[in-house]
Amino acid sequence: MHKKRIIIILGRAGSGKGTQSKLLEEKFGFKYMGSGNILRARFKKKDFTGKKLDRVLGGGGLAPTAIIFKLWVDELEKIKQEDSNGFIVDGSPRKIFEAQLMDQAFEWYEWERCLRIFYIDISRQESFSRLTTRKLCGKCGRIIPYIGEFKKIEKCDKCGGELKVRHDDHPDGIKKRLDLFEEETKPIIDYYKKTDREIIEINGEQSIEKVFADILKHLK
Ligand SMILES: [Zn+2]
Repeated sequence: MHKKRIIIILGRAGSGKGTQSKLLEEKFGFKYMGSGNILRARFKKKDFTGKKLDRVLGGGGLAPTAIIFKLWVDELEKIKQEDSNGFIVDGSPRKIFEAQLMDQAFEWYEWERCLRIFYIDISRQESFSRLTTRKLCGKCGRIIPYIGEFKKIEKCDKCGGELKVRHDDHPDGIKKRLDLFEEETKPIIDYYKKTDREIIEINGEQSIEKVFADILKHLK
């Protein structure tokens, strides 16, 4: 049986985690597990939790761990039954408690030795400026960064859908998310270091191609 690979990508919002995940997905056939996507799929169901998630996330808050983790474990169950060669975790863990739960889950599914943890580093200021300018395709969910050639496009380059500002990308929401990153997510890096996991730091303020090349160096 071949070994599964679990890639965890940490970084401030706008660091390109989603973009790099997509590239890894294409190159290695890894399954993509983005918390953002999982949550957005959940709020399409307009029940109590769907509506509340929409409201909480729209205000820049985090989904409570109990809720996100339930959705998460459902995904892991599916992955366990598939014969995939790995998956990418984007947007989780958001706090130490979640990293610990995730460790428990990985141990349960017998994947605890499969981890590769990347931290894509961009400054807070860079994150803010990227987030206030990027767009989301209303049809396919593709995120279009406001950089380089993408500055000119008016419709989604993949499906032709209308582009809009992401609903959690308004300035107050962004500030709140960046604060949460400093307070809750950054300490995860120390948690992993203390528990003998290697953190691979990547300079996220380079071109998409260079960031990807740096990641590939560590996935031989
Ligand atoms: Zn699209």
